Amino acid sequence: MTITSINPASNETIRTYSPLTKDETMDAVEKADEAYKHWRTTSFDERKRVLLEFATQLRDRCDEFARLITEDMGKRISESRQEIIYCAEIAEFYAEGAEAFLANQPIQDIDADAYIRFEPIGVLMGVMPWNFPFYQVTRFAAPNIMAGNSVMVKHASNVPQCAEAIADLFDTCSLPNGVYTNLFIPSEFVEAIVSDHRVQGVSLTGSERAGAAVAALAGKNLKRSVLELGGNDPFIVLDDADLTKTIPLAVKGRMVNAGQSCVAAKRFIVVESIAENFLQQFKDAMSDLVMGDPMDEDTTLSPLSTEDAAENLQQQVQSTIDAGATVVLGGDRPDREGAYFNPTILTDVTSDMPTYDQELFGPVATVYVVKDEEEAVKLANDSSYGLGGSVYTKDIERGRRIAERIETGMIFINQPTNSQAELPFGGIKNSGYGRELSHLGILEFVNKKLIHLG
Ligand code: NAP
Repeated sequence: MTITSINPASNETIRTYSPLTKDETMDAVEKADEAYKHWRTTSFDERKRVLLEFATQLRDRCDEFARLITEDMGKRISESRQEIIYCAEIAEFYAEGAEAFLANQPIQDIDADAYIRFEPIGVLMGVMPWNFPFYQVTRFAAPNIMAGNSVMVKHASNVPQCAEAIADLFDTCSLPNGVYTNLFIPSEFVEAIVSDHRVQGVSLTGSERAGAAVAALAGKNLKRSVLELGGNDPFIVLDDADLTKTIPLAVKGRMVNAGQSCVAAKRFIVVESIAENFLQQFKDAMSDLVMGDPMDEDTTLSPLSTEDAAENLQQQVQSTIDAGATVVLGGDRPDREGAYFNPTILTDVTSDMPTYDQELFGPVATVYVVKDEEEAVKLANDSSYGLGGSVYTKDIERGRRIAERIETGMIFINQPTNSQAELPFGGIKNSGYGRELSHLGILEFVNKKLIHLG
């Protein structure tokens, strides 16, 4: 097995890395455990210094890191830069906030002196995806390093330049050896790591398939787990929505990262009185996207992450068309080198079609026309996923009422689902469990220890 960076805009190999052997991997677990024993004794100030330096370096070397993202997985260079700056914000958020988030919590209203103390638990394993290669790692590593845990990361095998750069950056910031470890390993090695008695938890961001495999391992070995999996987010357009504002948000919500985001808007559920206008304007706006080299600042539609990803999407779209869906726009791949896919809009997708309840990870929108808001809520909830979603209306109170009825972990009014350091991120149903970011993210892998003073 080799781990290779292939530029999806040209399908050219950039660099190949050799994976660790099983013995080398288990040696790394030992080092991470040794490092943890020291790191857990350090002060918040010491941890904060490292993370603030990490943030400073991200900002100062933004262009260098952004380039690695774009080379490894094809993200538009301006989006890659935004990702790097956002990682700096996350690092700063936890550097500044961790001590307060983890402050002792007195228990009120009992006849005794008792409190909860938040303690680190040990070595954690992170299994990460390629779609936001710096962000996914940062949102796992930053809170846990601040909490006093040590973390090991098996990154997706198509983003090795990013994986290496993150580990080098922690070294540059004088994080003690072993507190953060990058593991170039095949996914089969994850079992030995999660089973090891020195490892106390595992966090996976990725597909349902990988999530179920890792959750089974965690369950079998009685380890804590957090799963951030796929989504099929509804984008609900009510009859009073302002289309001038909503259309650009629909394109932005669907096309973030060329459509390869777990919280991208995927199912556009539009009330019939404005459906025709919505569809026409949405089609025009999607047609305006400019496909091209992701390094080019003028490109607005980049390739998908790999040739396989583009081929898989083609199969999903074609099977939906074969089953009777209507193609409003696109539906296929362009005739050019690289893992590109045309902007696509499908309508008449019905619940008996294979992709109805599948995630379409690319620039493909499905538009559903519904009678009224009741039907919109029903359709939005008819999904095995439950990650994010958004509702568009001029009446915020009406939006709030609908938001409270949608079965997801996150829901936004008049803006597509997005991620901010202060906001909890995560899903329900097959989108996983646990939360990352915000004050909740740092509480997933700590011992909430009761101390009762009699
Ligand atoms: P993936 O194929 O599941 O891969 C994710 C990670 O899991 C990779 O490191 C992969 O390693 C590893 N992996 C795969 N099978 C495994 C197994 N059986 N045991 C242990 N590790 C395993 O997902 P992806 O294609 O990279 O990412 C896209 C998916 O992630 C989408 O479904 C997306 O919605 C979801 N996602 C969710 C969130 C969220 O926060 N909810 C955020 C971003 C993405 P290899 O690369 O070596 O196969």
